[in-house]
Amino acid sequence: MGRKFETNAIRTQTERSQNREHSSPVYLTSSFVFDSAEHGRELFANETEGNVYSRYSNPNTDEFIRKICELEGADDGIATASGMAAVFSSLVGLLDSGDHILVGRSVFGSTHQILTELLPRWNITHTYVDITDPGSWEPALRPETRMFFLETPSNPGLDILDLQKATDLSKKHELILNVDNCFATPYLQQPGQYGADLIIHSATKFIDGQGRTLGGIIVGREDLIEKLRFFARHAGPAMSPFNAWVLSKSLETLAVRMDRHCSNALHLAGFLEKHENVSWVRYPFLPSHPQFKLAKKQMAQGGGVLVFHPEGGYSGARLFIDKLRMLSLSSNLGDTRTIVTHPASTTHSKLTEEERLAVGITPGLVRISVGLEHIDDIIDDVAQALDQL
Ligand SMILES: *Cc1c(COP(=O)(O)O)cnc(C)c1O
Repeated sequence: MGRKFETNAIRTQTERSQNREHSSPVYLTSSFVFDSAEHGRELFANETEGNVYSRYSNPNTDEFIRKICELEGADDGIATASGMAAVFSSLVGLLDSGDHILVGRSVFGSTHQILTELLPRWNITHTYVDITDPGSWEPALRPETRMFFLETPSNPGLDILDLQKATDLSKKHELILNVDNCFATPYLQQPGQYGADLIIHSATKFIDGQGRTLGGIIVGREDLIEKLRFFARHAGPAMSPFNAWVLSKSLETLAVRMDRHCSNALHLAGFLEKHENVSWVRYPFLPSHPQFKLAKKQMAQGGGVLVFHPEGGYSGARLFIDKLRMLSLSSNLGDTRTIVTHPASTTHSKLTEEERLAVGITPGLVRISVGLEHIDDIIDDVAQALDQL
């Protein structure tokens, strides 16, 4: 029987050096030395395995990659400097001019910019489909569709996309199924179990979990990762060994942190649902979520993010935010500190009103990334702000 999640997150480790260190050291080195002229030749000819240069590989990034592969059940992967470098590499490293991508509507803001502003320069096009309407996916396919890219739960609408149906469609039409699993983390959801070909993370969020470093990773099918490794080796989106060391340490506590993020979020969602100055709340593990059953099937817990609508629309949301005393106003998520965001005026302000409404961002929508402070203190701050509306 294989080891459990928590154990893999802790015990997957770079081989101990002659110094007998207990915790993996940081390998801050740009290059590695060859034992001999012949060894150098062999390394470059791929006749032997080993580190050459930290743009290609490094013990710290290898440890981070091996851990995520264990946790996602994937063959292999590449680590990148940021989540967006992972998203961009997974597209440009695999697609050709003329290819088309099917995309679950409501992807991360910069992913939307890549799809709409950058990829068309190389004649790579996309079509957005409704996440919650699987019947609409197949009719949107074209002969040149090569990939299905999606996020679930979506940001910030927290819509759930049916991973089994996405896999069935991808297999039938030989699409690369590419899932940004950042919101769930491998602790709550493993798209590879359904048959996803690639799984992407912005490690900046819950994987770091403490608001310190940027990072990204792509794991998945060996043949695809082989192509992406070639791309990364030469295009150079490499993760810093220091950040890889930080992120690998962070993974040691991912399970305990996610348990608390999720229980705090569920408590806060329940509190908001009963408050008279709240119009509605959405959280995947609230029975009132329109896809509660699907969320329960796909996810172990509901995640660390919820959205809600204070009374008073746009101005109500802004007043609520200005009355908060402790919670942070920031656009990030997945931090120990609870973070409150008003998407319509910040993260999603570049979209038109129509585009925002199409992905469920009403003017008064407030997103909360629920942190690890004591739940009583989180609720106290939210309650006193709501009481002033
Ligand atoms: C933050 C985020 C990204 C981008 O990651 P960076 O590390 O900020 O580059 C991509 N996808 C999702 C879902 C995210 O939340």
